[in-house]
Amino acid sequence: MAETPYDTDNIFAKILRGEIPSHRVYEDEAVVAFMDVMPQGPGHTLVVPKAPSRNLLDADPSTFGPLFTVVQKVARAVKRGFGADGVTVMQFNEPASGQTVYHLHVHVIPRFDGIPLKPHTGGMEKPEVLAQNAEKIRAALRS
Ligand code: 5GP
Repeated sequence: MAETPYDTDNIFAKILRGEIPSHRVYEDEAVVAFMDVMPQGPGHTLVVPKAPSRNLLDADPSTFGPLFTVVQKVARAVKRGFGADGVTVMQFNEPASGQTVYHLHVHVIPRFDGIPLKPHTGGMEKPEVLAQNAEKIRAALRS
């Protein structure tokens, strides 16, 4: 069966092109990180390679070094910035796995002992809360 092609009009492609706003916390030549608008917990961040791929399955392997370097930076920053006990890193591939946006991305979520994650793609967070949380992560990335 033929693979589904990459859709250049997916929502993260639009965010990467600056056509849709996002609360960006990090950017380099290969990777961008911004707040998830339907966070599963405070500080839920998405780390996204600029190179187009639908998910991990069709990505060029050269994507993963720069991508996971930033995943680690952001994981450390959310842990410090939110005083978290741990960090969950998640990544979904195709609808059966829970993927809903078809541009490769990694979820980085600060975790607190005894507090479960909210549902995946649950409620929208207020923009002012996302802005405050983004600033905490930027500050932790600077320190
Ligand atoms: P997936 O289900 O594909 O692994 O995750 C997609 C994530 O993108 C979800 O957690 C969802 O909340 C988030 N999301 C969906 N639309 C937008 C959007 O327009 N902006 C941002 N920043 N996040 C989004």
